[in-house]
Amino acid sequence: MDNEITVVTGGSRGIGAAVTRRLAAAGHAVGIGYRDDRQAAEAVAREVRANGGRCVTVRADVAVEADVDHLFDVVVAELGPVTGLVNNAGITGPLGRFTETAPGTMRNVVQVNVVGALLCARRAAREMSTRRGGRGGAIVNVSSGAATLGSPGEYVHYAASKAAVDAMTVGLSKELATEGIRVNSVQPGLVHTDIHRAMGDPDRPERKAPAVPMRRAGEPDEIAAAVAWLMSPEASYATGAVLRVAGGL
Ligand code: NAP
Repeated sequence: MDNEITVVTGGSRGIGAAVTRRLAAAGHAVGIGYRDDRQAAEAVAREVRANGGRCVTVRADVAVEADVDHLFDVVVAELGPVTGLVNNAGITGPLGRFTETAPGTMRNVVQVNVVGALLCARRAAREMSTRRGGRGGAIVNVSSGAATLGSPGEYVHYAASKAAVDAMTVGLSKELATEGIRVNSVQPGLVHTDIHRAMGDPDRPERKAPAVPMRRAGEPDEIAAAVAWLMSPEASYATGAVLRVAGGL
């Protein structure tokens, strides 16, 4: 497909920023979604433009339907018809045992990771489905190894939210298979980003590295490479795949 136009939620930091850079280098125009950190989003956008790419930054909380619509409306208006979505925005809440986790934390995590991913996938499918006159496209959902590991003692609610994301991948891939849309998941393992600081343990990647078969945490670009492949025409027969990229975890 020529002239690919892809929305990356949380495309401003961490894994999402690496995905934005990779897709832009592969020729995608990128809609960079973010929630709070405008400076980080603008910094990634400057890099993309300096390398000759096209992009737009849009503040949008994925858990809010009106924000999701605004995100896609701006991308369509500024860049053109959407052909891709990377559902990357995600949060964990503070680390802790399940019984000590606040119900509000659980609700927030489900709102962002599950409802947010569903709302974005719904709007993307409506834009891209050949049944609705769209050009077809691809969706990659950034899940987590937690979806099958369960994350006991750390964030069981987050693991549950990511299992929901993978269930969405399987169902949507089948529902949209004849409408020109491929849907896949990537499950990162332990990756060096600010998410660990946000959960209250900035040194978590180093602390947990000995439990990873490869004995190290991954880098955001190692996840972005898998996302970019699934978004590319090289993955033309891959749909419904859940691809673990976790150093053996
Ligand atoms: P991160 O460094 O904390 O970055 C999170 C990104 O998501 C930021 O761009 C942030 O925007 C955005 N975001 C957060 N909440 C949002 C919301 N409600 N609406 C829109 N955007 C929102 O996280 P990361 O480590 O790169 O994680 C990216 C994805 O990978 C997540 O889905 C995460 O669960 C998954 N993952 C990460 C790891 C890991 O070890 N890092 C492992 C497995 C899976 P602002 O900067 O504006 O807040």
